[in-house]
Amino acid sequence: ATPTAVMVATGVGANNGVLIKGGDALERAQMIKYVVFDKTGTLTQGKATVAAAKVFTGMKLGEFLTLVASAEASSEHPLAKAIVEYARHFHFFDKPSTTKDAQNNIEESKSSAWLLDVLDFSALPGKGVQCFIDGKQVLVGNRKLMTENGVAIPKSAEDFVVELEESAKTGILVACDSALIGVLGVADQLKREAAVVVEGLMKMGVKPVMVTGDNWRTAQAVAKEVGIQDIRAEVMPAEKADVIRSFQSDGSVVAMVGDGINDSPALAAADVGMAIGAGTDIAVEAADYVLTRNNLEDVITAIDLSRKTFTRIR
Ligand code: ADP
Ligand code: MG
Repeated sequence: ATPTAVMVATGVGANNGVLIKGGDALERAQMIKYVVFDKTGTLTQGKATVAAAKVFTGMKLGEFLTLVASAEASSEHPLAKAIVEYARHFHFFDKPSTTKDAQNNIEESKSSAWLLDVLDFSALPGKGVQCFIDGKQVLVGNRKLMTENGVAIPKSAEDFVVELEESAKTGILVACDSALIGVLGVADQLKREAAVVVEGLMKMGVKPVMVTGDNWRTAQAVAKEVGIQDIRAEVMPAEKADVIRSFQSDGSVVAMVGDGINDSPALAAADVGMAIGAGTDIAVEAADYVLTRNNLEDVITAIDLSRKTFTRIR
């Protein structure tokens, strides 16, 4: 392709919301063999909502939610934000109240006065959060977090988590001083176009893959909905780039599509990194392509554009 053709293609991309950072990236896209999709925020809308909450002790649900929200309040994770929002709503808006109360509630809900004091907060990427509340150690996260901290998961809790996972939800476990006290289920809808895009890629001879830090059962349920067969789950944030490299090992050209801070090493490792425009700045910076419309159809647009610009010689 001539430099003019590359310029034209870059312009066509830009007009369609596909920002291409350079002619090399444009050229590599025609040869993509695998497209590795991040799950949360890429295949799914990234708008997690709490769909279930169960307490396994005598604690009241409201108390439980306030405790969990307090622990999650300093976390930037989408799961944390969903939990805090749910607890806030429960605390201020789920109870019948007078008009005057309602007004006060709206004001109060904006402050963090309803949250408990938290000491020694730490975010544990790929696992959850840990902190101290009222002198007690509070853990909120996945099985791995519980196991590593010696928290036993009673059968009733395990059964509930499995039930959540089989319906594509993420189970979040909560422990207080090493005892499991409750479980939350968080749901995140697939993007509307996700399944069509997966099918389209396969028709183009491109293999779709899903990678996620989430557990295997949830990953499998989501993959089934979207039509992806090849999945890598329970991948720690630092390992996502290794997944990319494993697909590259036979010389295949690999694209990664992601939105999160966690995804940036994988976006950089991929031959073609594509960031969802609404994703974090770090992801956008690490990528060769930015899909500014946040629409997965633009993965196909990008490959098409490259194929049309460069004559394929095989
Ligand atoms: P991904 O964004 O690929 O789903 P992450 O690596 O961010 O994965 O997280 C993996 C898993 O770790 C989540 O599915 C969740 O179970 C747990 N986790 C991470 N951060 C939190 C958090 N702040 N609160 C609860 N669970 C969390
Ligand atoms: Mg993500």
